[in-house]
Amino acid sequence: RPTVAIVGQPNVGKSTIFNRIAGERISIVEDTPGVTRDRIYAHGSWLGHNFNLIDTGGIEVSDEPFIKQITDQAEIAIDEADVIVFMVNGKQGMTDADERVAQLLYRANTPVVLAVNKIDNPESRADIYDFYALGFGDPYPISGSHGLGIGDLLDAIIKNFPENAENTDDDSIKFSVIGRPNVGKSSLVNAILGENRVIVSDVAGTTRDAIDTKFENDGQEYTIVDTAGIRKRGKVYEKTEKYSVMRAMRAIDESDVTLMVLNAEEGIREQDKRVAGYAHEAGKGVIIVVNKWDALKKNNHSQQEFEADIREQFQYLAYAPIIFVSATTKQHVSQLPSLIKRVNENHQRRIQSSTLNDVIMDAIAITPTPTRNGKRLRIYYVTQVAVGPPTIVLFVNDPELLHFSYKRYLENQIRKNFDFVGTPIHLIARRRK
Ligand code: GDP
Repeated sequence: RPTVAIVGQPNVGKSTIFNRIAGERISIVEDTPGVTRDRIYAHGSWLGHNFNLIDTGGIEVSDEPFIKQITDQAEIAIDEADVIVFMVNGKQGMTDADERVAQLLYRANTPVVLAVNKIDNPESRADIYDFYALGFGDPYPISGSHGLGIGDLLDAIIKNFPENAENTDDDSIKFSVIGRPNVGKSSLVNAILGENRVIVSDVAGTTRDAIDTKFENDGQEYTIVDTAGIRKRGKVYEKTEKYSVMRAMRAIDESDVTLMVLNAEEGIREQDKRVAGYAHEAGKGVIIVVNKWDALKKNNHSQQEFEADIREQFQYLAYAPIIFVSATTKQHVSQLPSLIKRVNENHQRRIQSSTLNDVIMDAIAITPTPTRNGKRLRIYYVTQVAVGPPTIVLFVNDPELLHFSYKRYLENQIRKNFDFVGTPIHLIARRRK
């Protein structure tokens, strides 16, 4: 999926436009603790084209001077985006900062669409002509606050999407490797690649540096999403948590299964929870990988204790298997591909309606449905409507009566009967008409 980044100096109206273009970020099934909803990364869609959207203005790059901050943001946009929307203020006119950003963007090869914001009425359209001097062709007059010109701007954006950035579908299992800096992501990726046959692709990459790597294991192809991001080092990237979190989110979006890497020596931190929560909400398969297991002084209880801590802190990831590995000694690394494959199969698992109904009816027989105000929940029929993640609709008399604890009970009964390890299951109650 192509990525669009918005750059421009503070107060030009980047976040207003961002919010207008951004649709639902992801369909949020339930609230996950620890996930804060920064609006710097979102999904957009226009005329059937889906894309990622980044507001670089939301990425604070430390307390550097103003000009340094916005040039850093422009660098990030150049690194990340297939198309850059360079936004300037039509009311204020051109500034030195605009010219500095323009120089940076000019040297990069990324297509730039110039948007002149705050053109709230047709008479002020004359104000846009100065901006031709920036050298990005026709400026697009827009008004974020009035919602004017956005359609033309979006047309210009999608016209600049690289070919083949939108369909990368193949039969490989796509997985991402996420975790804080230094947990050992790149060592782990190297260890995996060292044990498997890497498939060299002749498909030309897109402009941004999100390069995927493919390998084969036991006749199955796998794609590690955004290996470039995993290996990425540098001040802005590693010091700016929002930036690396955003990049992790995008990698999660583009994968079927996420390896959530923790560092055995450091335990679980807040940032771990944020990205894990995102993977869960996005409905991806999740495997918790505890790396550096070699480095820990262990006794007979260490693994159990570590597991208990993970279960306690990531309660919503109860379905995620935990694997203890060492990228350094390669301990258990060879087990990862088959585990990823199993989780992917579960994520894509489809259960026949008749079988599913039998399981649910048995569950109801063991533990009757709840009542509220004398009214009992009735489940008439159950059917799976989607995979990736498995999504099951319960047709009921009144969706309000499906208390979350009963929902969880039903989910557990389903899990007892089928292998759904590693994947969330979405249970949705609908009123039968
Ligand atoms: P990343 O930032 O998550 O990609 O982490 P790196 O792969 O760069 O690893 C960070 C540091 O941890 C490096 O010094 C690695 O050598 C070390 N490291 C990575 N994996 C292991 C491991 O399994 N055991 C030990 N003892 N050290 C590791």
